[in-house]
Amino acid sequence: MDIAHNLRQIRSALPPHVSLVAVSKTQPAEALMEAYHAGQRDFGENRVRELVMKQPRLPSDIAWHFIGHLQTNKVRYIAPFVSLIHSIDGLKLLKEVNSEARKRDRVIDCLLQFHIASEETKFGMDLPEAMMLLESDDYRAMDHVRITGVMGMASFTDDMDMVSGEFRMLRSFFNQIRQQYFSDIDTFRILSMGMSGDFREAVREGSNMVRIGSLIFGERTEGK
Ligand SMILES: *Cc1c(COP(=O)(O)O)cnc(C)c1O
Repeated sequence: MDIAHNLRQIRSALPPHVSLVAVSKTQPAEALMEAYHAGQRDFGENRVRELVMKQPRLPSDIAWHFIGHLQTNKVRYIAPFVSLIHSIDGLKLLKEVNSEARKRDRVIDCLLQFHIASEETKFGMDLPEAMMLLESDDYRAMDHVRITGVMGMASFTDDMDMVSGEFRMLRSFFNQIRQQYFSDIDTFRILSMGMSGDFREAVREGSNMVRIGSLIFGERTEGK
């Protein structure tokens, strides 16, 4: 795998307003360093244990994105350094992030994860749940989290019309939430959608942050 070459290819396919998160789950530190030397600074991990092992061994100017399902009892391990949590799927989790961030005198950026795929196995909220969260007194009282956008994963399918339709739905959630709750707040601006198999469709539907693993590092043998 020529990681630097792969990164160049992907970057050249992305419009300048789209940021690239290199999904490094299951990859050894050497692979991340190759990407780092090719200029990559944003990395995504989906397991707390793995992230906590890697973070101290890698350069401190890396921005770590947490993209996997996050259990409330593990928030405290990543709260000291995580740059963006993509996977807020309920009020309870957001409360925990806020409370751990407060202890460390931080404000942690978070995305609301939406369930847009047809598969039941994927995590995330629907629009009414997200609106309920944003309208809750609990959320209004939080000073240590900042919601900067939304994230979603499309169905795992070859039907690209279906995938595009799911991305379009996520974009409409993003627009509705921005209009209703963040209209004068320009830090609400991230639409995190698109992976190795569907990032072109995602960008076409308005994504401005893609999360790409296997196209950079090669196919994984474990840890989907
Ligand atoms: C693994 C993963 C990705 C990247 O998947 P690839 O198909 O390897 O690009 C993106 N987002 C999430 C949430 C993931 O778990």
